[in-house]
Order: sequence, then C-alpha cells, then structure tokens
Amino acid sequence: MQPIILPRQEHHISRNRISINAFHTLCRLQDYGFTAYLIGGCVRDLLLERTPKDFDIATNAAPGQIKRLFRNCRLIGRRFRLAHLHFQKEILEVSTFRADAPAEEANPEARGPDSTPVRHLKNEDGMVLRDNVFGTPEEDALRRDFTINALAFNIADFSVIDYTTGLADLKQRLIRPIGDPFVRFTEDPVRMLRAVRFAASHGFEIEPTAWKALCSLSPTIARAAPARLYEETLKLFLLGSARSAFSLMNAGGLLAALFPGLVRQLRGKDDLLNLLHTNLEGLDRLSRSGWNPSPAFFLAALFGPVLEKEALSRHLDGVPHQQALDTVCAVFLEELCKTVSIPGRIGDQMRRILALQTSLNRIPPRRAASLVGRADFTDAMAYLCLIGKTRRENQTAREWWENFLKTPSVSRPEPPPDRVPAKRRRRKRHRRPPSVAVA
Ligand code: ATP
Ligand code: MG
Repeated sequence: MQPIILPRQEHHISRNRISINAFHTLCRLQDYGFTAYLIGGCVRDLLLERTPKDFDIATNAAPGQIKRLFRNCRLIGRRFRLAHLHFQKEILEVSTFRADAPAEEANPEARGPDSTPVRHLKNEDGMVLRDNVFGTPEEDALRRDFTINALAFNIADFSVIDYTTGLADLKQRLIRPIGDPFVRFTEDPVRMLRAVRFAASHGFEIEPTAWKALCSLSPTIARAAPARLYEETLKLFLLGSARSAFSLMNAGGLLAALFPGLVRQLRGKDDLLNLLHTNLEGLDRLSRSGWNPSPAFFLAALFGPVLEKEALSRHLDGVPHQQALDTVCAVFLEELCKTVSIPGRIGDQMRRILALQTSLNRIPPRRAASLVGRADFTDAMAYLCLIGKTRRENQTAREWWENFLKTPSVSRPEPPPDRVPAKRRRRKRHRRPPSVAVA
C-alpha cells in the first residue's frame, strides 16, 4: 500500500523539539546508509505539539549492526532483540523494523536479517506469545496498536509517513486500532488499557467499533501478566488523567475485571463512588502540579475510602481499629494480586498511609515530631489533605499540621524524651522531604 507522505513544509515538527540524542542517532544511522525513523508515540505527540515522554527509533539496521555503530548500545529482549542506547539522562530504544505475527504458525526455518530465527506463536485464545520476526517499514507500522501510534518521521527528508489513517484520526481525535479491533485486543488485551489511557490523557474518543470490542473483551484483561498490568495501571492513574481513565474503565468493564474487590464494594454505593471521583480529581491536580504522587499514595487514594469503610464496620463489631485495618488491607491486596500484582512493599506502604491517619487526626497529636520522621509521613499527610478536601472535614488537623511543619525544628525530629535510642546501623533511607502536597 502506498503511504501518505506529509512533506516537511506541511507539518510543524521542528528538529528543536526532538531530543538531541535521538536526532544524532537518526543522523548516524542515516550516514551509514540505513533507513531511520522516529516512530510511535513521539511522532503523535510532536504533531499534537505535546512533549513526548520518550523517543523511539525504528530502522532497517539489524540489532548486531546497531550495536557495532553505537558504543553505548546494549541489546535486550528475548521475545524480540532491541537496542537500548544509554545516554546520561536518557535511554533510547532502537528497534529493527518488525512484522506482525501471522494468524497461523510461521515457518520455523525462517531467518531474520541477522540470522535470528523467526518465531511467532499464539496460544489457543489468540494471544501472541512470541513474535520475533523482522519486516519492512510498512509491516512495522501495521503491527502497532493504534493508527495514531503508527506514524513515522523520516530523518532523510523530515517527512511524516502514514501507512494507515493516523493523520486523519489525529485530526478527528480518534483512537482506532489498526485492523480488526476484536483480533487486536485478543492478541494483546493490554491494548484495551492503552486505548483508555490515550483517550483519557489526550481527550480523544475510542472509535465506536473498537469501543464495542473493548466492552465485550474487557474480562479477558485478566489474562495479561499481573506484573504488566501493575505497570499499566500506574501509567493510567499517575499521569494526570486518573479521573477520566477511571470512568472509561468503569463504563467498559475493565475496572471490574482488574479490581473485582473494589467494584464489588462500590456496587449501589453512590456516595462512595462520588468520594472516589473527587479523590481521583485531587490526584490529578497533584500529578499536574508536578508533585509526582507515589504508587502507594495512588493506591491509598483509589482503595482507601473502601478499605477504611470496611475497617470501620469491623471496628464497630469490636475489633481494634488498627487490627481491623491490617486485616482488611491484607485480604483486599491478596485478592487484587491475582490480577494486578502490587509489589508487597508498595501494598505495605499503602496500609501504613491509611494506618497513620488515626494519629494525624488526633489533635494535638502525640509525638508529632516523631510522626514527621516516619518514612510514610509525606504521603500520609497528602492523603489527609486529599480526603479532607473530598469529605470537607479534617480541616483542623490539616491546619494544625501545616502550622507545625512551618517550625524549623520539625525536619530533624528529636527522639522521644523517655527513650534513649539504641545504637543502630546507619541505613540509607530513600525518603522525600516532608512537604505538604495540597490537592
Ligand atoms: P507514551 O506517551 O505513553 O510513551 P507511546 O505510544 O509512546 O505512549 P510506548 O509504550 O512508549 O507508548 O510504546 C511505543 C510505541 O510502541 C507505541 O506508540 C506503539 O506504536 C507501539 N506499542 C506499544 N505497545 C504496543 C502494543 N501492546 N501493541 C502494539 N504496539 C504497541
Ligand atoms: Mg513512548
């Protein structure tokens, strides 16, 4: 198929907006006679005049040839060999043009350009297990997830190449899978989460047939690897559009498939759902303000109201509050990890953020300075402010702490007067400085 080629004078991508490392890499590949394109999300974002998160390069140079051209290159990947170029502040991904896995099993004798065996394998559900096959620039574009993610910027003449309908869809603000959405979402269910992420973060609409496919295939998201789903969840919720991502996921059935425990607790409880919405709006304000919410804080914002409610009901049945909270968190996280594997350390941090709320809300607090010294204090304080905004309560506690944090001695908490600290080994602690994040 003939691609649409947008010449240099018909778009406004300027070389100044391309990372200098990416630009030099493209030029070096070209100088050695290879075809080299910027590809994927960075071209989409440059055309939308947004700042790309990362720059990816696709080329017809084989991984071995890339390695020989760049001293800072490391080859990675088992499913498909990729080159990572390590710069001081950036890692660039350079991949050899690659083709999609055909529906039927491939010829096991086939070889790629550097003699790597070609392998592509789907399981009985149609999910791609391995797809190690080199291809043409066109094949490389067509194997990508959405039309707007398949655009290429050619360093040879600064043109934009579109093998699908990416340019038109970008204008119409549409997320459209390349090919049959049912097939593409079945091959890789994580593409459904990516569709939601781009729709939420770019304010685009998911094309109607694709949305229908997503709604019927959403339960299959649980087939993806739990660790990958955790990474995708963070991208969905920590980049400033958590509120709209949440609504889209809820409408499409992805929320119920990923977080069954949460959706069960929310059923028929509009007040709790509204509370979550307001929490996520606060989370978005924090993300956009540059505060960089931690994964544990995000988990607390998303699951905290439900967990606290459940803990309170156990407490009213006579279980001590902290014990009730510990049990509720443990049960909830254990079920959650079957679909989305939350690292134990992060789940524990979430529990501590919630547990600290009792101490923060006791005014005047006991041993305020030692609370400030806790590793989770910053996040716990941010949660207090977030929930305070949402429920329009806790204002007194919040004001008390804000005033307290202004006093100069609090960043170095004194040990409690009644206890002489035992000699301890120095440990490196990775902690953000205490500052109040106001959503
Ligand atoms: P972001 O702004 O979040 O980086 P992105 O589109 O660049 O968005 P990446 O995860 O960096 O997303 O992936 C780079 C490119 O790789 C995508 O633009 C897309 O072309 C392709 N891609 C990524 N994941 C998939 C997938 N699951 N299926 C097909 N293509 C994919
Ligand atoms: Mg990217």
